[in-house]
Amino acid sequence: DKRHSVDDKDVNQSDSPSRGWDDISVYNAKKKQHAWYQAPDGNWELAKIISVTGTESLISFSEGKVCKVPSDILLPANPEILDGVDDLMQLSYLSEPSVLYNLQYRYDRDMIYSKAGAVLVAINPFKNIPLYGKDYVEGYKRKKIGRPHVYAIADIAIREMIRDEVNQSIVISGESGAGKTETAKIAMKYLATVRGGSGIEYEILKTNPILEGFGNAKTSRNDNSSRFGKLIDIHFSDIGKISGASIQTFLLEKSRVVQCGEGERSYHSFYQLCAGASPSLREKLNLKNAHEYKYLQQSNCYTIFGVDDAEQFRIVMDALDVVHVSKEDQENVCQMLAAVLWLGNVTFSIVDDENHVEPVIDEALQTVAKLLGCQIKQLQLTLSTREMKVRGENFIKKLTLAQAIDARDALAKSIYSSLFDWLVEQINKSLSAGKRRTGRSISILDIYGFESFDVNSIEQFCINYANERLQQHFNRHLFKLEQEEYIQDGIDWAKVDFEDNQACLSLFEKKPLGLLSLLDEETTFPKATDLSFANKLKQHLSSHPCFRGERGKAFTVYHYAGEVTYDTTGFLEKNRDLLRIDSIQLLSSCTSELPQIFASNMLSQSENPSVGSVKKLGGVDSQKLSVMSKFKGELFQLIQCLGNTRSHFIRCIKPNNSHAPGIYDQQLVLQQLKCCGVLEVVRISRSGFPTRMTHQKFARRYGFLLLDNVASRDPLSVSVAILNQFGILPEMYQVGYTKLFFRTGQIGKLEDTRNRT
Ligand code: ATP
Ligand code: MG
Repeated sequence: DKRHSVDDKDVNQSDSPSRGWDDISVYNAKKKQHAWYQAPDGNWELAKIISVTGTESLISFSEGKVCKVPSDILLPANPEILDGVDDLMQLSYLSEPSVLYNLQYRYDRDMIYSKAGAVLVAINPFKNIPLYGKDYVEGYKRKKIGRPHVYAIADIAIREMIRDEVNQSIVISGESGAGKTETAKIAMKYLATVRGGSGIEYEILKTNPILEGFGNAKTSRNDNSSRFGKLIDIHFSDIGKISGASIQTFLLEKSRVVQCGEGERSYHSFYQLCAGASPSLREKLNLKNAHEYKYLQQSNCYTIFGVDDAEQFRIVMDALDVVHVSKEDQENVCQMLAAVLWLGNVTFSIVDDENHVEPVIDEALQTVAKLLGCQIKQLQLTLSTREMKVRGENFIKKLTLAQAIDARDALAKSIYSSLFDWLVEQINKSLSAGKRRTGRSISILDIYGFESFDVNSIEQFCINYANERLQQHFNRHLFKLEQEEYIQDGIDWAKVDFEDNQACLSLFEKKPLGLLSLLDEETTFPKATDLSFANKLKQHLSSHPCFRGERGKAFTVYHYAGEVTYDTTGFLEKNRDLLRIDSIQLLSSCTSELPQIFASNMLSQSENPSVGSVKKLGGVDSQKLSVMSKFKGELFQLIQCLGNTRSHFIRCIKPNNSHAPGIYDQQLVLQQLKCCGVLEVVRISRSGFPTRMTHQKFARRYGFLLLDNVASRDPLSVSVAILNQFGILPEMYQVGYTKLFFRTGQIGKLEDTRNRT
């Protein structure tokens, strides 16, 4: 059967090491055994081997179908006794189908949490599951429940922080809609419940509706999608109670303020304001309904099924009370939101034969000026001219329609992102106010996972780079944990191989000719275009093993999670993210309080020498702050923070794209298991000795198979006798002080014998 052998080869090549990670030569198809068969659609089906002749096997499926296939395409299935084990590492045969099957078996029974060694896998149930009640909190707190759970992870983090005096981190990743933010909240609530007391934990929990209001939006993949990354450090006192917290955010998606796709929404905060503002606030802000604002009109979506924006508005305002944002400041916040909305309604008219424009003086422009507290004249100038400096002389350049729209949108985006940053700052002030830090903390990271779309731009580039870094942290961390366990039990460590993604990281970070340096270099070069950038990459990086130049403006990176082709269109412009000096001037001239603060924050940010400096750009004096170099700085800081903690990893999986309970799409799950490194963990362990059993347990379970009488012998010698009798090869196991360590598949053979006896 040619198709099978071709398929098999393809899979092995594109996907090395192969999906059947156990040494297949060890597995001989035998009559009556169960095995995995990969159907032409890629899905795995469980089959029973009826007979084996030569290199072929006759197999039957549960629905009665029978077919003949080459024996070597089958993968061994685990004995039924292992169905639904808590930890994938307990499986005798580790392979893609057995991992997928085990997770599905559990998912079907509402056991959404499983372990893959040290990693917690959480599969989004898309329905409420009664797993979070008081009895569960108590159960995990008192260690009465041993099943995998976010609570168990949070609890271990607390214990280890106190016992070992080492700061802890919980790193949550997964694709959009997989459940990261929900999982982070579940962990926070657990910590607050079992380690609260001072009241500060209540404040910490109230940061969630605020940050979600201003930083989340409805997208095609998630009705409540976080459009920023978040690290929250929860601080503990000497007696192990929560004493405060601090929050750091990453890469808010600014473009969403001025545009978003069909069926999506801009940030929740805008709709909440429009729906929930009181009559007096409406009047003060000259507020209209959401569908009267151009920024919100484009996507033709104003509401979210099951969400009451007006109610959410009250929840967010109450939460702002809790974190000590005054009523006056709350009104200032609303004023900035309204200013952004009205900015979107500003229109332009052509004023000369060269297509130069000026903003129309209408309700929109007047309202923006009023809300920001600036002169209409000044606002007009900012939106229709650019101050240029050529050879030391200032002059004013008029803008065309497209340029003016850009200037308007840039102002809207910078007001919104400044507002977001300001809110985070207020929250941090409140959460740390007057609290003495002991230095003990548990950090929770909720950050976008690896992304690969049909078209990938600089956003995916940043996100995937971050994930590449996090993956290295993940690999090294788990490697260390494994190493410790081996050394403790006296096992020869040299026999274990680990993979590393250093090659891909150096493609990004190499100086001066890595992806990031080349991007920043082209960004500052006045005549550069997206095409010249792409060509430069091809010129310098084509020999790198993780890089492939594509036709036109594209290039491909071989990430640990797969290949991604990036389209460089817009890379330079987005990286530049010009904070035009004119915008800063405008905001600092405002009489309203927040714009002034925003202006001085923007200035101090761009004056910070570590993130860029005022540079001359094509003769224009601009505040230059490359998005990428800022992000890289933040990322390094993040990785450094994590490096000083003991990390616990949670991988969230989205089981289907229809957001529906009960549907488990094998291919989709498989893809994510690869992307978030779960298969890698399983594979890492496979390259070591993942199956571990104490001498006692091993002797008890298999001792009766021995031909000699063993009653009087100690567990270790019984174990050794079993290994000898069954001819387990010396390279397939190691004997530790307390445990036996096996390569995968070894126990499976013993189990088969045991079951036949
Ligand atoms: P994004 O990257 O877009 O922010 P995310 O990974 O943070 O996505 P969430 O917003 O946490 O995803 O989850 C998406 C939705 O899935 C939630 O709004 C909720 O409906 C559902 N969900 C996630 N986790 C759970 C859970 N443990 N129990 C019940 N429902 C859940
Ligand atoms: Mg989220």
